[in-house]
Amino acid sequence: MVREPPIPVAVFDAQNYDEEFLAPAFRAVGLEPHFHSARLSPATVKLADGARAVCVFVNDDLGRAVIDALVGMNVGLIALRCAGFNNVDFEACHGRIRVVRVPAYSPHAVAEHAVALLLALNRKIHRAWLRTRDNNFSIHGLLGFDLFGKTAGIVGTGKIGRVVAEIFQGFGLRRLAYDPFPDTAWAARTGVEYVPLEKLWAESDIITLHCPLTPETVGIINAKTIAQMKRGVVVINTGRGRLIDTRALLHGLKSGRIGAAGLDVYEEEERYFFRDLSLTGIDDDVLARLTTFPNVIITAHQAFFTQEAMTAIARTTAKNIRAWSHGEPLVHEVCLHCARTGQPHEAHAVSGAS
Ligand code: NAD
Repeated sequence: MVREPPIPVAVFDAQNYDEEFLAPAFRAVGLEPHFHSARLSPATVKLADGARAVCVFVNDDLGRAVIDALVGMNVGLIALRCAGFNNVDFEACHGRIRVVRVPAYSPHAVAEHAVALLLALNRKIHRAWLRTRDNNFSIHGLLGFDLFGKTAGIVGTGKIGRVVAEIFQGFGLRRLAYDPFPDTAWAARTGVEYVPLEKLWAESDIITLHCPLTPETVGIINAKTIAQMKRGVVVINTGRGRLIDTRALLHGLKSGRIGAAGLDVYEEEERYFFRDLSLTGIDDDVLARLTTFPNVIITAHQAFFTQEAMTAIARTTAKNIRAWSHGEPLVHEVCLHCARTGQPHEAHAVSGAS
């Protein structure tokens, strides 16, 4: 029997932990990974020369210039090793290069991180940790509130938003939700109430974002919507940075309208996240100001980062690329229609819209 030659795949923005999980998963299905620590960009795209597919992450640049270059090099597939796909220019891809993603790896990983941010902020764990390490055992200023009986607003009730809502149920939170494609059967079963966004902003003590970044959701939290929120609201964002107008968030924090913010994503994160800049500092005054607030916790896009999620991401990405290379149906494809509407491919592909 003749063995098929391995399929070369250029893996961008590859950290050592990516290699650890991706290398065995890729080799197991006949793919040959070439790991590049550089992010994909017009300047680095030539590293993909000779590859049949590229494997990319949340902050790689998949704008028109990069797509044109990839198509010119006969790269036929973009395999996102993440769920979000806002960094891809689907107009440029349409009919020229296909795109797959990992729609679900562990919604629990992201949901649990969102809840971790909320609990840490509310009970000021980050401040207590610093104090006790310094033999300061005072609890002044560490007052929190009971979650029980408060109202949480969940924006986006897909895989992650639903897990968050179910965890919140255990805390005894009243749960409001907004989603343009509501899952009413699930809501009835779990006691979640779908409401218009205006009501969610006005009544929530905690607001957590789990919708994709689309033209409709860019800046969904902005000066106008912050003005409609309860004084002291806790805002959690593990979705995408551009869901929040950060300058408006800063104003909200300064005025006290926003009581605390837990951010795993930031609108300019491409320039900073996943890098150690502790020796150079950062030149982003907005991010620098955000880090000065005692009631803000920023994590650098780590919500997905659990063993289970990394294993699932590696397996699904490998399967996606293998299926494409064998001309099999791409069950995890993403297309122009998904990008325009925020609707998962599975939900519309059957109707032929792509
Ligand atoms: P999903 O596709 O299962 O769910 C997204 C939900 O958002 C869907 O129910 C959709 O109908 C809804 N939606 C679409 N437009 C909306 C709008 N205008 N307002 C409110 N809801 C809207 O996706 P998921 O797996 O739950 O992931 C959600 C998002 O979380 C992803 O798009 C990604 O950006 C982000 N994410 C972040 C991390 C991280 O590590 N921080 C990891 C995975 C995903």
